[in-house]
Amino acid sequence: LTELQNQAARLDAADALAGFRARFVLPEDTIYLDGNSLGPVSMDAKASLERALNSWETHRIEGWIEGEAPWLFLPERIGARLAPLVGARADEVIATGSTTLNLHQLLATLYEGNGPILLDANSFPTDRYAIQSHLKLRGLDSETYLRFVEPDEDAIELSLIQGTGLAVLPSVVYTSGRLLDMARLTRAAQRSGTKVLWDLSHSIGVLPHALSEMGADGAFWCSYKWLSAGPGAGGGLYLNARHFDKAPGIAGWFGAAKEALFSGSHGLIPAPGAARLQTGTTHVLSLAPLAGTLTLFEEAGIEAVRAKSLALTGFLRECLAALAPELEAITPIEDNRRGGHLALRHPQAAALSRSLRAQGVVGDHRPPDLLRLAPAPLFTSFAECLEAARRVRAVLEAGLHRETAEGLVP
Ligand SMILES: *Cc1c(COP(=O)(O)O)cnc(C)c1O
Repeated sequence: LTELQNQAARLDAADALAGFRARFVLPEDTIYLDGNSLGPVSMDAKASLERALNSWETHRIEGWIEGEAPWLFLPERIGARLAPLVGARADEVIATGSTTLNLHQLLATLYEGNGPILLDANSFPTDRYAIQSHLKLRGLDSETYLRFVEPDEDAIELSLIQGTGLAVLPSVVYTSGRLLDMARLTRAAQRSGTKVLWDLSHSIGVLPHALSEMGADGAFWCSYKWLSAGPGAGGGLYLNARHFDKAPGIAGWFGAAKEALFSGSHGLIPAPGAARLQTGTTHVLSLAPLAGTLTLFEEAGIEAVRAKSLALTGFLRECLAALAPELEAITPIEDNRRGGHLALRHPQAAALSRSLRAQGVVGDHRPPDLLRLAPAPLFTSFAECLEAARRVRAVLEAGLHRETAEGLVP
């Protein structure tokens, strides 16, 4: 234990990102390991939201085109700032919609109904529902047109056969924390003539991406997880430049070229680039906190964020192996195969997660038997990782997790 304590102290002393902690609002006695599900608020997010409210108060209708950050091109401006986080050209990214809506949009725009859709068998529920309802709208039956595959590189590559229409894959699997080899799978998809869409919900803001370089067709994500932009914050999507000639599958006036917003023309004249995939009026107040938190990532640099994330999860894993060996870490151990959270198997994971919250360690539970702990590079310290592991030990030893009531806990 002393050795782990010394190690934590050394790592914290050498941590170049330690100063970012003060920018977040977090209670002193709580170890928040759920930033992969809902990131906490930062001063930067609050200030940015306040500025948006002030600009509404000051400018009213003119706010669309006046003030320090006119709302009309807000999605493009934030898209350009998101682009480095996903490894894309500025015009390939737009801040809009939600994960769910953006998946619908990319399906409607890129899927040609020319073969089955391949989906990760452990996919987040909304991805499955979106695809099923999309197929239904097209009059295609899910039994035939939706194929499931285990989220494993070899299995996915084997399933990417000629005649597959499109694949929807997670960068990081939300349950296990496994990071898929996106470049390898994008190449495999291209070889089989399959379009590929990446769900980046669990990786944006915690690791770098290279969407343009690998030539992915599209990608989509939310901003309330690692990006810490607040509950229901505006999401984002990526459309590869080779698809800039495609008409939006789900059309709305905000996807029109801005000069043509009120043109008398009956047909839509799409905006250039990914901006054409917007639908209705942009959610100015839901994007404002994101404009604030992006500053944190720009200052820290995503490579440094990734390096610290790997160090944090590696250290937490080590502490848990020493203090709570009855938890089985199922997240791959290799750096290039894991995302930002640690998934631990325990038969009473749900109750364990609840008892831990009562002890000030906020992680979460995913059925049937996973406890997820996610140290965040911008606000978690190595000392907190060790302290969290000690509280896990204490809960297990006292048997507290056997006495916790059932109930819905996010
Ligand atoms: C969080 C998450 C979503 C959520 O979708 P919303 O439309 O933002 O509610 C979707 N997919 C994955 C993989 C997620 O982790």
